[in-house]
Amino acid sequence: MNFFKKYKQQIYFHLILNLIVAFCITLSSYYHIPLSGFKDYLIYFIHFLLLQFSFFGILYFLSINKYIFYVGFSILFISLSFLGFYKYSLDLSVTKSMIEAISETSLLVSVDLISIPFIAYVLFVGLVLYFVIKKYKKIKVNQLKSPLIILAILGIATYFIIESYRHNTFKSRLPYVAFNSVIEFFEEDHIQLLPINNNVKAIVNDINFIFILGESVRADHIQLNGYNRETSPKLSKRKNVISYSDLYTPLTHTVASVKQLLTNQSVNDVVKSNEVYSLFSILNATDYKTSWIGNSTIVKSYAPIIRSNKNVELIDKFRSIMSFNKALDEEMLQPFDSVLKTTKNQFITLHMTGSHWWYENRYSDEFRKFTPVTDSKHIPSLEAEQIINSYDNTLVYLDNFIDTVISSVEKTHTKSIVMYVSDHGEILGEGGKWLHAQESEVSKNPAMIVWYSDELFSAYPKSVSALIKNKEKRVSADFFYHSILDLIQVQNFDYDKEKSIFKEENY
Ligand SMILES: [Zn+2]
Repeated sequence: MNFFKKYKQQIYFHLILNLIVAFCITLSSYYHIPLSGFKDYLIYFIHFLLLQFSFFGILYFLSINKYIFYVGFSILFISLSFLGFYKYSLDLSVTKSMIEAISETSLLVSVDLISIPFIAYVLFVGLVLYFVIKKYKKIKVNQLKSPLIILAILGIATYFIIESYRHNTFKSRLPYVAFNSVIEFFEEDHIQLLPINNNVKAIVNDINFIFILGESVRADHIQLNGYNRETSPKLSKRKNVISYSDLYTPLTHTVASVKQLLTNQSVNDVVKSNEVYSLFSILNATDYKTSWIGNSTIVKSYAPIIRSNKNVELIDKFRSIMSFNKALDEEMLQPFDSVLKTTKNQFITLHMTGSHWWYENRYSDEFRKFTPVTDSKHIPSLEAEQIINSYDNTLVYLDNFIDTVISSVEKTHTKSIVMYVSDHGEILGEGGKWLHAQESEVSKNPAMIVWYSDELFSAYPKSVSALIKNKEKRVSADFFYHSILDLIQVQNFDYDKEKSIFKEENY
């Protein structure tokens, strides 16, 4: 008996199985990626084939024992196909929040998913599963001794080889992202927030502090800092707007920089402690009311810090920054306006998706000022000019966003400050690199823009004058935590007044 004849049924089964799994699960992670040109499609097709090949390895081992296959594969296939449907139809991201929502059965309600296509899909998945199991029963060879097992081992090895070469290449896609999110769901928080004493208080109790936490915006592309393109048309015309041009952070990855900005951690800390003071916990001990409105999914490394706000509202919480259908940041404006009206001494954070790649998803058509823009997610096939145009358009959008926030705050006629700080910068072709989380000076110089109300200036002229005078100085991202505690003069709690930008002598 020749080789193919002997293993024909087995090979046929695994081919069908992988085609089905690819269609219902794996391909969904590629479906929304914007691509243009044959080369891009070819590269992502190879990417997909390798990912499917790695998953074939897992499926193969699952299929060695019939009981494990019947139970294990059925559960896996149904749940992953379900996630695949979310991915295809709504480009939802499989994250810890999504697993949480599924465990609370709130996802179906919140995304209003029970529709005719969904019911049809459920029926289809059921039929396919029945078909797979029927085919499985026809395999007569011992799969443990079949030469195909070598391919399966190679498949699993592909996963580890590619992940070690470039982290998250497969891990961020279905099916693997689902396994990781489930693990994350059961994991404990990495950081622990230190408790705050009851006797902590603030002497200044009448400021509205609006903090806009930006994403991937580098200082030198801001018109206010002398960039030769009109990226800040609205803010340039406003009074009481100042831009800090030399803010510095060595932390060029969101998970590290956000945690540092919002706690007592310093950019210079060599050992990053996991026991930190959250800025919000301190503010909560005073009379300030803290609110967080975010258009960015909460990441494990700083989740407890966000949750230390009195109110937390997340926009589009089932789509991560990687989704191509992520909501625009302007969707935060309506909840912001409602929160703003409630009191005159509060600390509101707006967490933006900002200028995170893929840039074309971060702004609406009316802000497409610079063209041609990017038309593919595959960076090597794009012209530098296209990427920079798209990036700069996100900054025009940002200009409008900050300007709109200021307009709302201005109308309250309170002592207020709007402070925009980006978590890190972005690399735009310097040294042949793009995006962030890599070594480059430009990603270490994030943008920072501040607006203050006339009422604030009249009440605290010394603090505001210092804020204006320090704008061109080199300031480390440590300033944020300490400056806020200094501005409202927190008592009975240790912080470093010398890092405050509200004191002129400090810089
Ligand atoms: Zn970031």
